[in-house]
Amino acid sequence: MAQEQSVGKQVAMVFDLNKCLGCQTCTIACKTLWTDQPGMEHMWWNIVNTLPGDGTPKGWFEMGGGFKDGQPVPGTLPSRAQWGEAWEFNYDEVYYGGKGDSVYLKPKGEAPTWGPNWDEDQGAGEYPNSYYFYIQRICNHCTKAACLEACPRKAIYKRPEDGIVLIDENACHGYRFCIEACPYKRIYFNTQRLIAQKCIFCFPRVEQGVAPACTRQCPGRIRHVGYLDDEDGHVYKLVKKWKVALPLFPDKGTQPNLYYVPPLAPPRFDENGDIDESTPRIPDEYLEYLFGTDVYQALATLKAEMEKKRRGEPSELMDLLIGYRWTDLMGPFAKDPAKLHRPA
Ligand code: SF4
Ligand code: SF4
Ligand code: SF4
Repeated sequence: MAQEQSVGKQVAMVFDLNKCLGCQTCTIACKTLWTDQPGMEHMWWNIVNTLPGDGTPKGWFEMGGGFKDGQPVPGTLPSRAQWGEAWEFNYDEVYYGGKGDSVYLKPKGEAPTWGPNWDEDQGAGEYPNSYYFYIQRICNHCTKAACLEACPRKAIYKRPEDGIVLIDENACHGYRFCIEACPYKRIYFNTQRLIAQKCIFCFPRVEQGVAPACTRQCPGRIRHVGYLDDEDGHVYKLVKKWKVALPLFPDKGTQPNLYYVPPLAPPRFDENGDIDESTPRIPDEYLEYLFGTDVYQALATLKAEMEKKRRGEPSELMDLLIGYRWTDLMGPFAKDPAKLHRPA
Protein backbone atom coordinates (compact mmCIF):
# COMPACT_ATOMS: atom_id res chain seq x y z
CA MET A 1 0.00 0.00 0.00
CA ALA A 2 1.32 3.45 -0.91
CA GLN A 3 2.43 5.15 2.31
CA GLU A 4 2.76 8.88 2.65
CA GLN A 5 6.01 9.64 4.45
CA SER A 6 5.27 12.52 6.79
CA VAL A 7 7.91 15.25 6.92
CA GLY A 8 8.20 18.59 8.64
CA LYS A 9 9.16 20.46 5.50
CA GLN A 10 9.48 19.32 1.90
CA VAL A 11 12.06 20.62 -0.54
CA ALA A 12 10.73 20.99 -4.06
CA MET A 13 11.68 22.37 -7.44
CA VAL A 14 9.79 24.09 -10.22
CA PHE A 15 11.04 23.95 -13.80
CA ASP A 16 9.75 26.45 -16.36
CA LEU A 17 9.65 24.43 -19.58
CA ASN A 18 9.25 27.63 -21.59
CA LYS A 19 12.73 28.84 -20.69
CA CYS A 20 15.00 25.78 -20.86
CA LEU A 21 17.84 26.11 -23.39
CA GLY A 22 18.66 22.40 -23.45
CA CYS A 23 22.26 23.36 -22.68
CA GLN A 24 22.80 20.50 -20.18
CA THR A 25 24.79 22.78 -17.87
CA CYS A 26 22.73 21.27 -15.06
CA THR A 27 23.61 17.77 -16.24
CA ILE A 28 27.32 18.48 -16.21
CA ALA A 29 27.10 20.36 -12.90
CA CYS A 30 25.74 17.20 -11.29
CA LYS A 31 28.05 14.85 -13.17
CA THR A 32 31.22 16.63 -12.14
CA LEU A 33 30.09 16.98 -8.55
CA TRP A 34 28.60 13.58 -7.78
CA THR A 35 28.98 10.90 -10.48
CA ASP A 36 32.53 11.06 -11.76
CA GLN A 37 33.68 7.97 -9.88
CA PRO A 38 34.30 4.43 -11.27
CA GLY A 39 31.05 2.52 -11.77
CA MET A 40 29.14 5.77 -12.30
CA GLU A 41 30.11 6.40 -15.91
CA HIS A 42 26.58 5.78 -17.21
CA MET A 43 24.87 7.77 -14.46
CA TRP A 44 23.13 11.05 -15.16
CA TRP A 45 21.31 11.90 -11.93
CA ASN A 46 20.20 15.05 -13.73
CA ILE A 47 19.41 14.77 -17.41
CA VAL A 48 17.42 16.99 -19.75
CA ASN A 49 15.53 14.93 -22.30
CA THR A 50 13.61 16.09 -25.36
CA LEU A 51 9.86 15.54 -25.58
CA PRO A 52 8.20 13.96 -27.44
CA GLY A 53 10.91 11.33 -27.27
CA ASP A 54 11.98 8.03 -25.74
CA GLY A 55 14.11 9.65 -23.06
CA THR A 56 16.54 8.09 -20.60
CA PRO A 57 16.35 5.13 -20.18
CA LYS A 58 14.70 4.47 -23.51
CA GLY A 59 10.91 4.31 -23.10
CA TRP A 60 11.09 4.79 -19.30
CA PHE A 61 7.50 5.99 -19.01
CA GLU A 62 6.21 2.55 -20.06
CA MET A 63 8.33 0.56 -17.61
CA GLY A 64 5.73 0.41 -14.83
CA GLY A 65 6.38 1.08 -11.17
CA GLY A 66 4.63 3.50 -8.83
CA PHE A 67 1.14 2.87 -7.50
CA LYS A 68 -2.39 2.50 -8.83
CA ASP A 69 -5.30 2.71 -6.39
CA GLY A 70 -2.72 2.60 -3.63
CA GLN A 71 -1.27 -0.74 -4.75
CA PRO A 72 2.22 -1.19 -6.25
CA VAL A 73 2.38 -1.48 -10.03
CA PRO A 74 4.95 -4.07 -11.20
CA GLY A 75 7.91 -2.42 -12.86
CA THR A 76 10.76 -3.56 -15.06
CA LEU A 77 14.50 -3.12 -14.81
CA PRO A 78 15.99 -1.08 -17.65
CA SER A 79 18.82 -2.85 -19.46
CA ARG A 80 22.24 -1.25 -19.83
CA ALA A 81 21.45 -0.89 -23.53
CA GLN A 82 18.30 1.10 -22.66
CA TRP A 83 20.32 3.39 -20.42
CA GLY A 84 22.99 3.70 -23.07
CA GLU A 85 26.68 3.18 -22.48
CA ALA A 86 29.21 5.93 -21.97
CA TRP A 87 31.11 6.37 -25.21
CA GLU A 88 34.77 6.91 -25.92
CA PHE A 89 35.41 9.50 -28.62
CA ASN A 90 38.33 9.80 -31.07
CA TYR A 91 39.72 12.91 -29.41
CA ASP A 92 43.35 11.96 -30.08
CA GLU A 93 42.72 11.52 -33.80
CA VAL A 94 40.80 14.79 -34.18
CA TYR A 95 42.85 17.06 -31.95
CA TYR A 96 46.35 15.58 -32.13
CA GLY A 97 46.34 13.40 -35.28
CA GLY A 98 47.45 16.12 -37.69
CA LYS A 99 44.62 15.25 -40.09
CA GLY A 100 43.05 18.70 -40.19
CA ASP A 101 39.34 18.81 -40.95
CA SER A 102 39.41 15.49 -42.81
CA VAL A 103 38.32 13.77 -39.57
CA TYR A 104 35.45 14.59 -37.28
CA LEU A 105 34.50 13.75 -33.73
CA LYS A 106 32.71 10.38 -33.45
CA PRO A 107 32.45 7.51 -30.97
CA LYS A 108 35.28 4.99 -31.11
CA GLY A 109 34.62 1.34 -31.99
CA GLU A 110 31.26 -0.13 -32.95
CA ALA A 111 28.68 2.52 -33.76
CA PRO A 112 26.20 2.84 -30.86
CA THR A 113 22.48 2.53 -31.54
CA TRP A 114 21.23 4.23 -28.38
CA GLY A 115 22.57 6.44 -25.63
CA PRO A 116 21.51 9.04 -23.11
CA ASN A 117 19.65 11.77 -24.97
CA TRP A 118 19.92 9.86 -28.26
CA ASP A 119 16.79 11.56 -29.56
CA GLU A 120 17.74 15.06 -28.39
CA ASP A 121 16.04 17.87 -30.37
CA GLN A 122 14.09 15.49 -32.64
CA GLY A 123 10.59 16.18 -31.35
CA ALA A 124 7.50 15.51 -33.41
CA GLY A 125 5.14 17.00 -35.97
CA GLU A 126 5.59 17.92 -39.62
CA TYR A 127 7.49 21.02 -40.70
CA PRO A 128 6.52 23.87 -40.43
CA ASN A 129 4.43 22.70 -37.50
CA SER A 130 7.06 20.57 -35.81
CA TYR A 131 7.68 21.03 -32.09
CA TYR A 132 9.72 19.84 -29.15
CA PHE A 133 10.52 20.93 -25.65
CA TYR A 134 12.93 19.91 -22.93
CA ILE A 135 12.10 18.06 -19.73
CA GLN A 136 14.47 18.18 -16.76
CA ARG A 137 14.64 14.88 -14.92
CA ILE A 138 16.06 14.25 -11.46
CA CYS A 139 14.72 12.15 -8.58
CA ASN A 140 11.33 13.54 -7.53
CA HIS A 141 11.97 12.99 -3.80
CA CYS A 142 8.43 11.66 -3.76
CA THR A 143 6.07 11.95 -0.82
CA LYS A 144 4.95 8.34 -1.46
CA ALA A 145 8.30 7.04 -2.63
CA ALA A 146 7.84 3.73 -4.46
CA CYS A 147 11.57 3.03 -4.27
CA LEU A 148 11.48 3.29 -0.49
CA GLU A 149 8.58 0.88 -0.10
CA ALA A 150 10.14 -1.65 -2.47
CA CYS A 151 13.41 -1.99 -0.54
CA PRO A 152 13.42 -5.08 1.73
CA ARG A 153 16.61 -3.83 3.42
CA LYS A 154 14.97 -0.53 4.42
CA ALA A 155 18.02 1.12 2.89
CA ILE A 156 15.97 4.00 1.47
CA TYR A 157 14.63 6.70 3.74
CA LYS A 158 12.99 10.10 3.52
CA ARG A 159 14.52 12.73 5.77
CA PRO A 160 11.88 14.20 8.10
CA GLU A 161 13.59 17.60 8.17
CA ASP A 162 13.39 18.30 4.43
CA GLY A 163 11.81 15.33 2.63
CA ILE A 164 14.96 14.41 0.69
CA VAL A 165 14.91 10.71 -0.24
CA LEU A 166 18.29 9.03 0.25
CA ILE A 167 19.80 5.57 -0.18
CA ASP A 168 21.96 4.28 2.67
CA GLU A 169 24.81 2.78 0.67
CA ASN A 170 25.93 0.66 3.62
CA ALA A 171 22.52 -0.96 3.94
CA CYS A 172 21.91 -1.43 0.20
CA HIS A 173 22.48 -4.99 -1.00
CA GLY A 174 21.98 -4.24 -4.67
CA TYR A 175 18.68 -6.09 -5.10
CA ARG A 176 17.49 -3.33 -7.49
CA PHE A 177 13.81 -3.65 -6.47
CA CYS A 178 13.90 0.14 -6.05
CA ILE A 179 14.88 0.61 -9.69
CA GLU A 180 11.95 -1.56 -10.78
CA ALA A 181 9.57 0.29 -8.48
CA CYS A 182 10.52 3.87 -9.40
CA PRO A 183 8.09 4.93 -12.14
CA TYR A 184 10.45 7.72 -13.19
CA LYS A 185 13.46 5.39 -13.53
CA ARG A 186 15.71 7.78 -11.69
CA ILE A 187 17.85 5.20 -9.87
CA TYR A 188 21.04 3.78 -11.37
CA PHE A 189 22.98 0.64 -10.47
CA ASN A 190 26.68 0.86 -9.76
CA THR A 191 28.08 -2.38 -11.17
CA GLN A 192 31.43 -1.90 -9.44
CA ARG A 193 30.11 -1.27 -5.95
CA LEU A 194 26.88 -3.29 -6.47
CA ILE A 195 24.66 -0.61 -4.99
CA ALA A 196 21.82 1.60 -6.19
CA GLN A 197 22.57 5.33 -6.49
CA LYS A 198 20.55 8.41 -7.35
CA CYS A 199 20.16 12.17 -6.94
CA ILE A 200 20.71 13.27 -3.34
CA PHE A 201 19.20 16.76 -3.85
CA CYS A 202 22.71 18.01 -3.07
CA PHE A 203 21.90 17.65 0.65
CA PRO A 204 25.38 18.68 1.82
CA ARG A 205 24.83 22.01 0.03
CA VAL A 206 21.17 22.42 1.00
CA GLU A 207 22.07 21.89 4.67
CA GLN A 208 24.32 24.95 4.42
CA GLY A 209 21.83 27.14 2.55
CA VAL A 210 23.41 26.55 -0.87
CA ALA A 211 21.21 25.56 -3.80
CA PRO A 212 21.66 22.22 -5.59
CA ALA A 213 24.38 22.47 -8.24
CA CYS A 214 22.02 21.72 -11.14
CA THR A 215 19.80 24.60 -10.07
CA ARG A 216 22.43 27.12 -9.08
CA GLN A 217 24.28 26.76 -12.38
CA CYS A 218 21.24 26.92 -14.72
CA PRO A 219 21.86 29.85 -17.09
CA GLY A 220 18.27 29.82 -18.31
CA ARG A 221 16.84 30.75 -14.90
CA ILE A 222 14.26 28.04 -15.34
CA ARG A 223 14.70 26.33 -11.96
CA HIS A 224 13.12 27.54 -8.74
CA VAL A 225 13.96 25.74 -5.50
CA GLY A 226 12.56 26.04 -2.01
CA TYR A 227 10.19 24.52 0.50
CA LEU A 228 6.77 23.59 -0.79
CA ASP A 229 4.85 25.22 2.06
CA ASP A 230 6.88 28.43 2.34
CA GLU A 231 4.14 30.86 1.35
CA ASP A 232 6.64 33.60 0.52
CA GLY A 233 8.64 31.37 -1.81
CA HIS A 234 8.47 30.98 -5.58
CA VAL A 235 7.75 27.27 -5.34
CA TYR A 236 4.64 27.75 -3.21
CA LYS A 237 3.41 30.60 -5.37
CA LEU A 238 3.86 28.74 -8.65
CA VAL A 239 2.52 25.40 -7.41
CA LYS A 240 -0.16 26.26 -4.89
CA LYS A 241 -1.15 29.88 -5.42
CA TRP A 242 -1.05 30.24 -9.22
CA LYS A 243 -1.32 26.49 -9.92
CA VAL A 244 0.76 26.75 -13.09
CA ALA A 245 3.42 24.22 -12.05
CA LEU A 246 2.34 20.58 -12.25
CA PRO A 247 3.88 17.20 -11.43
CA LEU A 248 4.91 14.94 -14.32
CA PHE A 249 2.72 11.84 -14.64
CA PRO A 250 0.72 12.48 -11.45
CA ASP A 251 -1.10 9.19 -12.12
CA LYS A 252 2.07 7.26 -11.20
CA GLY A 253 0.83 7.66 -7.62
CA THR A 254 4.06 8.67 -5.86
CA GLN A 255 3.28 12.36 -5.21
CA PRO A 256 6.42 13.75 -6.80
CA ASN A 257 7.96 16.99 -5.55
CA LEU A 258 9.18 18.30 -8.89
CA TYR A 259 6.78 20.58 -10.75
CA TYR A 260 6.78 21.77 -14.34
CA VAL A 261 5.35 24.90 -15.94
CA PRO A 262 3.88 23.40 -19.13
CA PRO A 263 5.15 24.51 -22.53
CA LEU A 264 3.43 27.05 -24.73
CA ALA A 265 4.19 26.99 -28.45
CA PRO A 266 3.84 29.32 -31.42
CA PRO A 267 0.65 28.92 -33.47
CA ARG A 268 0.44 26.44 -36.36
CA PHE A 269 0.60 27.42 -40.02
CA ASP A 270 -1.99 26.24 -42.53
CA GLU A 271 -1.16 25.03 -46.05
CA ASN A 272 -1.09 28.64 -47.27
CA GLY A 273 1.45 29.66 -44.66
CA ASP A 274 -1.16 31.63 -42.71
CA ILE A 275 -1.42 31.39 -38.95
CA ASP A 276 -3.97 28.77 -37.92
CA GLU A 277 -5.06 29.08 -34.28
CA SER A 278 -7.85 26.49 -34.55
CA THR A 279 -5.63 23.74 -33.07
CA PRO A 280 -2.54 24.07 -30.88
CA ARG A 281 0.88 23.12 -32.22
CA ILE A 282 1.56 20.84 -29.22
CA PRO A 283 -1.48 18.51 -29.10
CA ASP A 284 -3.61 18.98 -25.99
CA GLU A 285 -3.86 15.25 -25.48
CA TYR A 286 -0.07 14.96 -25.27
CA LEU A 287 0.17 17.60 -22.55
CA GLU A 288 -2.74 15.97 -20.71
CA TYR A 289 -0.94 12.62 -20.93
CA LEU A 290 2.12 14.20 -19.29
CA PHE A 291 0.57 16.51 -16.70
CA GLY A 292 -3.07 15.45 -16.27
CA THR A 293 -6.19 17.53 -16.85
CA ASP A 294 -4.92 20.41 -14.66
CA VAL A 295 -2.73 21.39 -17.60
CA TYR A 296 -5.62 23.19 -19.32
CA GLN A 297 -6.17 25.63 -16.47
CA ALA A 298 -2.42 26.12 -16.09
CA LEU A 299 -2.04 27.04 -19.77
CA ALA A 300 -5.05 29.34 -19.63
CA THR A 301 -3.61 31.14 -16.61
CA LEU A 302 -0.21 31.52 -18.27
CA LYS A 303 -1.75 32.96 -21.44
CA ALA A 304 -3.98 35.37 -19.51
CA GLU A 305 -1.09 36.67 -17.41
CA MET A 306 1.13 37.04 -20.49
CA GLU A 307 -1.58 39.17 -22.06
CA LYS A 308 -1.77 41.34 -18.95
CA LYS A 309 1.96 41.89 -19.04
CA ARG A 310 1.80 42.79 -22.74
CA ARG A 311 -0.83 45.42 -21.93
CA GLY A 312 1.56 46.91 -19.40
CA GLU A 313 -0.43 45.71 -16.40
CA PRO A 314 1.32 44.17 -13.40
CA SER A 315 1.51 40.38 -13.15
CA GLU A 316 3.02 38.68 -10.13
CA LEU A 317 3.09 35.39 -12.03
CA MET A 318 5.07 36.75 -14.96
CA ASP A 319 7.49 38.49 -12.60
CA LEU A 320 8.07 35.22 -10.77
CA LEU A 321 8.72 33.35 -14.01
CA ILE A 322 10.94 36.05 -15.49
CA GLY A 323 13.09 35.97 -12.37
CA TYR A 324 14.58 39.45 -12.54
CA ARG A 325 16.95 38.64 -9.68
CA TRP A 326 18.27 35.14 -10.09
CA THR A 327 18.92 34.76 -6.38
CA ASP A 328 15.16 34.94 -5.82
CA LEU A 329 14.86 31.61 -7.67
CA MET A 330 17.10 29.96 -5.08
CA GLY A 331 14.68 30.61 -2.20
CA PRO A 332 16.34 29.85 1.15
CA PHE A 333 19.36 28.36 -0.64
CA ALA A 334 20.87 31.54 -2.12
CA LYS A 335 24.17 31.35 -0.24
CA ASP A 336 27.34 31.51 -2.37
CA PRO A 337 28.80 28.00 -2.92
CA ALA A 338 32.26 29.53 -2.36
CA LYS A 339 31.24 29.88 1.30
CA LEU A 340 30.50 26.15 1.65
CA HIS A 341 32.20 24.63 4.65
CA ARG A 342 34.18 21.61 3.52
CA PRO A 343 35.56 19.11 6.00
CA ALA A 344 39.37 19.32 6.28
FE1 SF4 B 1 12.09 7.10 -5.39
FE2 SF4 B 1 11.81 7.36 -8.02
FE3 SF4 B 1 10.36 8.91 -6.38
FE4 SF4 B 1 13.00 9.30 -6.61
S1 SF4 B 1 11.48 9.55 -8.25
S2 SF4 B 1 11.81 9.20 -4.67
S3 SF4 B 1 13.77 7.23 -6.92
S4 SF4 B 1 10.20 6.68 -6.56
FE1 SF4 C 1 22.55 16.20 -8.99
FE2 SF4 C 1 22.24 17.71 -6.83
FE3 SF4 C 1 20.75 18.20 -9.00
FE4 SF4 C 1 20.33 15.97 -7.57
S1 SF4 C 1 20.01 18.07 -6.88
S2 SF4 C 1 20.44 16.13 -9.80
S3 SF4 C 1 22.40 15.47 -6.86
S4 SF4 C 1 23.00 18.39 -8.82
FE1 SF4 D 1 17.74 23.78 -19.14
FE2 SF4 D 1 18.90 25.14 -17.17
FE3 SF4 D 1 19.56 22.59 -17.57
FE4 SF4 D 1 20.34 24.46 -19.34
S1 SF4 D 1 21.00 24.27 -17.17
S2 SF4 D 1 19.43 22.44 -19.80
S3 SF4 D 1 18.59 25.86 -19.26
S4 SF4 D 1 17.54 23.35 -16.94
